[in-house]
Amino acid sequence: MMPTIPDNVYKILVAIGLFIVGYSQIQSDKLDEKFAVTNSEYSKYLDSLHEESRKADDMKDELLYESDILSTRNGVKNPIKETDSLLLFTRVISKNKNETAVSDSLAPKFRVYKRVNKHLGASLKDHEFKKKFFELERQSRDIRKDIYLYLQFIGLSVALIGFIQLLYIQMTNDRKLMYEVRNTIGPIRCQSCARRFTAVRPKGKNKDGSYNQNFCMDCYTEGEFTEPNLTFKEVYTRTKNGLSISYRILFSAYLYFIIKNLDRWSGRNKY
Ligand SMILES: [Zn+2]
Repeated sequence: MMPTIPDNVYKILVAIGLFIVGYSQIQSDKLDEKFAVTNSEYSKYLDSLHEESRKADDMKDELLYESDILSTRNGVKNPIKETDSLLLFTRVISKNKNETAVSDSLAPKFRVYKRVNKHLGASLKDHEFKKKFFELERQSRDIRKDIYLYLQFIGLSVALIGFIQLLYIQMTNDRKLMYEVRNTIGPIRCQSCARRFTAVRPKGKNKDGSYNQNFCMDCYTEGEFTEPNLTFKEVYTRTKNGLSISYRILFSAYLYFIIKNLDRWSGRNKY
């Protein structure tokens, strides 16, 4: 015999399962909130980096433009050259006054450009670290979210198992109660034809004239069945044919179940 497990165990299972589901959901939401902050900070950082890069580009364009104008106007060689994405400045100190003047005029601006560019280089290196860190944070969030999702699934399963067991216990108790009620007041329908006992269809009588609690007057009289050779199939077909077509389609399975469970046809008793 299986050991009986008290209801409370299943109630605790449902509670634990629901707790796990709730807890995992809250933790998962917290992860999202935390990551949203990290994401927003990283976006702001990227914006500032783009701004810095844009400023350096503007400065470069301005310097190129100015050196071009100055050298053309003074009829001297342009001391600033563009290679790849960088600018090269050749400081000129010569007897040609114009050449020296152009070079002197551009030197301070080139120093500023160089400083800005150096800073941008450092920022871009720093960005490599920040980007890696951000990706790691994202991966860590994804893994932890997967774990919480898995936990939610486990919690839901545990709660469902507990709930189904509770439902099963409830149904078993209900059935027991139904049998107890039936044993006390007797069946509500004839245990041969399945029709309910009513004033126009009273219970049949035993040989001694007392009422038989199980069968109706049509099926049972003076201690004997009115149709002793009747079979389950005949009763089922007869009752089913008494229904309208729509009822027949909807309830024939239910009818089969009801009649099959009657005392005369269930095989529990011998008649
Ligand atoms: Zn009957």
